[in-house]
Amino acid sequence: MNLLFYAKTLSIHPINYNSGDGLEINADLHIHSRFSGATSSNMCIATIAEQAPLKGLHLVGTGDALHPAWLEEIRSLEEVEEGIFLSGNTHFILTLEVEDTRRVHHFIILPSLSAAEELRERFRRYSIDIEKDGRPHLTLKGEEIADIVNDVGGLVGPSHAFVPWTSIYKEYDSLRECYGSAKIAFLELGLSADTELADTIAELQEITFLSNSDAHSPWPNKLGREFNRFRLRDLSFTEIKRALLRQKGNRVVLNVGFDPRLGKYHRTACIKCYTHYELEDAERLRWRCSRCGGRIKKGVRDRIREIATWDKPHHPEHRPPYLRIAPLAEIIAQALKVSSVYSSRVQNLWRSLVVAFGSEIRVLVDVDTEEIAKVGGEAIAELIRRFRVQDFEIIEGGGGKYGEIIFTRRAKKKKAVQNQLSLDNW
Ligand SMILES: [Zn+2]
Ligand SMILES: [Zn+2]
Repeated sequence: MNLLFYAKTLSIHPINYNSGDGLEINADLHIHSRFSGATSSNMCIATIAEQAPLKGLHLVGTGDALHPAWLEEIRSLEEVEEGIFLSGNTHFILTLEVEDTRRVHHFIILPSLSAAEELRERFRRYSIDIEKDGRPHLTLKGEEIADIVNDVGGLVGPSHAFVPWTSIYKEYDSLRECYGSAKIAFLELGLSADTELADTIAELQEITFLSNSDAHSPWPNKLGREFNRFRLRDLSFTEIKRALLRQKGNRVVLNVGFDPRLGKYHRTACIKCYTHYELEDAERLRWRCSRCGGRIKKGVRDRIREIATWDKPHHPEHRPPYLRIAPLAEIIAQALKVSSVYSSRVQNLWRSLVVAFGSEIRVLVDVDTEEIAKVGGEAIAELIRRFRVQDFEIIEGGGGKYGEIIFTRRAKKKKAVQNQLSLDNW
């Protein structure tokens, strides 16, 4: 298995959800609609459906599936299979996130509109904002939430499991402390972690990992910045459930996501001035920044080290490879020497490349750079060439600030390609 094998099979292909011969689909299950806090007003179904194929996604989670107005928008789509909706070439499955009474986020996948209605009824008396906020707050504990979700036939697991503000491991040292004996179907890694980090924790060996974008806007540096490749027999809730539980040959065959150093909570850092700290220094300073007095937040890397069972990852046999990527739009912005990935020059070039070669992931890791030069110019071809051999530096993320890939001249060509190494070792 190597990087190129995956890259070649990752292109967009039309899917037939009832073919019976099996399919592999790319899915980003966790997003938020414009009805959640701090999200883009462009988070509407039509825009997401238009953008998803450009990222190589076949299936997107609706997010916010209990919100009345958002549910109305979903209801207007063609329901091709119970709980599976189609807009353009993009399929949607009902998903949502809730915040529990300890400020821990839980991610939920639902089988049907009736399950969504039932779940809203069950949650209603524990929430004051369930009609208003796409991500409602509940006065329930993790175990109670999981029991109710399982009762209505849904699937539940921790969202972005290691982030310092709103995750299970910021609050608890084990899954059991949060969920008790309730069943969970998966764990979402979050942008600042990957399987190398999470497989140092013994209690996660049996759990399927999800890598989702948690996008708050539909643009290419957010939607699908992390996704999962599922092997299914056809596209339905039941088949997704079997894949998460690894039944009947269904499974997640690949996690694609950020190099965790690019995640905004990877390192322990000040949330005001973003100065990074070693864990022991942060403790000695009592979590106050020595430069600006701001609060220091524990990074995902350090939190995982605290709860890790082993120093090195132990990958269970079922664990799929994790392909580390960075947003193509950010590489283009550097090639064009433009500071914003939202500039129209960056967006136009991104679209030309993706349309010419099928999907973002193909441009990033597969297509011949001479072909890329013909469409996008020599500068972008050169940076993609350097990206593939890991000829760049990373300024690690922390304290709420994303990490950055920097193509300085000081970065030296490394002998091995990190992605290839980790895939070959599987
Ligand atoms: Zn969340
Ligand atoms: Zn500071």
